[in-house]
Amino acid sequence: MGSYQPETTVAIIGGGPAGLAAAIALSNLPYLSVTVYERNPEPREVGAGLSLSYNAWKVLDLLGAADGVKGSSKHDTRHRNGHNGELVLFQPWPENANLDKRGSIRARRIRLQAGLLAKVPEGTIRYGKKLISAKDAGDSGVRLSFEDGTETLADLVVGADGIRSIVRKTLYPDLKIHFTGNTVWRTLVPRATLAHIPDISNGTSWWYVKGGHVFLSGVDDPSEIEAGGEDLFELSVRSYHEPDVPGRTVSWGIPATNERVQARFVHYDQRVRDAIATVPEGSWKEFAGFAGPGPEKITGWDKLVLIGDASHPLHGAFGSGATFGMEDGWILAQAIELEHNRSSENVIVPALQVFEEIRLPYYQKMYAYLNDQLGRVNKAGDQTIEEVLEARFKTLGINQEDKLAWIYKHDIGKVWSDYLKGVKEALD
Ligand SMILES: Cc1cc2nc3c(=O)[nH]c(=O)nc-3n(C[C@H](O)[C@H](O)[C@H](O)COP(=O)(O)OP(=O)(O)OC[C@H]3O[C@@H](n4cnc5c(N)ncnc54)[C@H](O)[C@@H]3O)c2cc1C
Repeated sequence: MGSYQPETTVAIIGGGPAGLAAAIALSNLPYLSVTVYERNPEPREVGAGLSLSYNAWKVLDLLGAADGVKGSSKHDTRHRNGHNGELVLFQPWPENANLDKRGSIRARRIRLQAGLLAKVPEGTIRYGKKLISAKDAGDSGVRLSFEDGTETLADLVVGADGIRSIVRKTLYPDLKIHFTGNTVWRTLVPRATLAHIPDISNGTSWWYVKGGHVFLSGVDDPSEIEAGGEDLFELSVRSYHEPDVPGRTVSWGIPATNERVQARFVHYDQRVRDAIATVPEGSWKEFAGFAGPGPEKITGWDKLVLIGDASHPLHGAFGSGATFGMEDGWILAQAIELEHNRSSENVIVPALQVFEEIRLPYYQKMYAYLNDQLGRVNKAGDQTIEEVLEARFKTLGINQEDKLAWIYKHDIGKVWSDYLKGVKEALD
């Protein structure tokens, strides 16, 4: 047994997918006392839908949280020229569907949140706790101060506080995020309200124009609809070249008027414009895209670790950020358990090294990939629509079997067993 005592305290800052996954995995270790500090007064999830693929199922299974997470299958995905609706590519099944019968789904974000929350031990989460500072308190751990005037000490702090992470700013004050020009407007409407418009609500579709795209998808599982549940449909429009709004500090889930959103649709096929016109005033939410460089290290002070968007402000670049965060939370717990079983002197220090050894190169690979690929999409202003489509398909690995297997076919359980194998071989 390690020297770690049951009173060892872990403070997770943020109750998003990363923080909740970490809370589940770390709470399984009886020698840790885990608390999540979430700034919102109650569980809140502002997005509309969320794509979950094979990589998500792998980690959700390991967390024991897959059961409650249901959504609409993404089979029969159509990619269209958004100007005239011409079908450019039809994908009957996502490329990874044969690996897991659950395939790729689009789910309401609150379903993922509810699935994770159901597995977090009661009393673990403290709401209305906005972190305002973290200070190194030497052997006493990290001193955390909250906006409500309270303070606490923790032996390990897990920064899961998202893209505008205070914990990351504490470690790396010079690392800044910036507005990318990308802005998304999203809403959910009853699918039935779109039924009269051809080619809109019968499956998942992407409609690309120069400088933006529209994504349309169901978010509900047929079994739930048959059982009397709602059948909602996601409308999501992305513009790649929006002007910045100086000084804004909140960028997610801001209400947007119909006029503001409809102004982005003037170049789209009439069917898309008709679909947008069905949205009731007050339904759209705006998500401005911020991103920034990833830090060179995702641990600090020998007792602080960054996970999820806090560690890699990528702004949903691969549409898999929630999964990355959950993978982080699960790996962190495995690393701590490994060092605990090894009877390491101080479990946290080597555990954080193990965590960083596994996760940092993964994020660095993402940044390298994006640096290589994204330039092409951002130059969309000078490209024909055909070139825009080709660049997007390349970036997203669409119809290019296995190009992004290291993301969408990622099996975090296997990553861990391979790591253990490597450790064993090194010892033999
Ligand atoms: C437009 C868009 C589309 C996306 N689509 C997908 C998708 O299809 N699939 C997918 O997997 N990912 C997608 N993502 C990415 C995904 O949303 C994020 O990567 C994911 O939410 C990150 O989870 P997280 O827990 O790290 O951070 P968050 O979800 O941002 O959670 C952070 C939490 O910390 C709390 N917090 C913040 N600051 C403090 C503080 N000071 N004190 C206490 N609490 C604090 C917040 O309230 C929040 O609850 C998308 C992102 C964008 C922008």
